[in-house]
Amino acid sequence: MRNKFLIVALAAFVGVSAATLSAFTQGQTQPPLAINEVVDGLYVITGPGGNIGVRVTGEGVIVIDDKFERNYDEIMTNIRSVTNEPIKYVLNTHHHGDHTGSNVQFAATAPVIAHKNVRANILRNSQAGPPSIIFSNDTAVFVGDVEVQAHHLGRGHTNGDSVIYFPDLRIIHGGDLLNTGNIFIDFNNGGSFVEWVDTLDSMLELDFVTAIPGHGNLLTKDEVRVYRNKFAALETRAKELISEGMSSDDFLANLQSEDLGWDLSGRGGQGPQGIYAELTRSME
Ligand SMILES: [Zn+2]
Repeated sequence: MRNKFLIVALAAFVGVSAATLSAFTQGQTQPPLAINEVVDGLYVITGPGGNIGVRVTGEGVIVIDDKFERNYDEIMTNIRSVTNEPIKYVLNTHHHGDHTGSNVQFAATAPVIAHKNVRANILRNSQAGPPSIIFSNDTAVFVGDVEVQAHHLGRGHTNGDSVIYFPDLRIIHGGDLLNTGNIFIDFNNGGSFVEWVDTLDSMLELDFVTAIPGHGNLLTKDEVRVYRNKFAALETRAKELISEGMSSDDFLANLQSEDLGWDLSGRGGQGPQGIYAELTRSME
């Protein structure tokens, strides 16, 4: 499967070389998007912005997240390199603009579906492209014989995170609840450090073998467990520091995360300061 992945990636690279050239001649420096097969019927589009899931059903395409608004044409070029089926539905994992930016263009041909807090956050933040269909806990779309589910399992990265589940493939798209790079908690949009581990525990109850993260490379279920345990370790450390009566400044100086692979030093209110505030409230 690794070789297949490499060959598809190479083919995609060769395929977009003309687009890359034109992007450079227009003075743009963004690297190109690429589409890779995860398994038969499911692709991931990588490149700047959140990972896009592309579920090809035989009777239409279900798209998970849609990067930035400027990416729409390139997203469609990548999708059209693997299928000519019509786009039937777009699902958003959360409201951030690197996952919902092309909602506006997709909405012209397919309904955009997301958790109700995604719509609320998009409207409150004056972003374009709010979803036209919302749900509270779970929903599913059906195209041909294929079902794709969306589950709001609790707060974490935001208050509107959904895990997209492909039950027949035993694969999930975790959005930014899973990020193989650095983490941040969007406290301004209902994110929660305290609840994130619980949300990951609920995610792990789903029957899956592979996870597409919001950013970064595919994860096995064991790697999602490791990621969950890193969150739990950080929570334990943070609670210990606060139960020692540490001030906010001392907390910021003493909360270690580098050994977990996370640099939270520049995150401010979306990192240690927010964690301190939320934990202090929750431990009162
Ligand atoms: Zn995000």
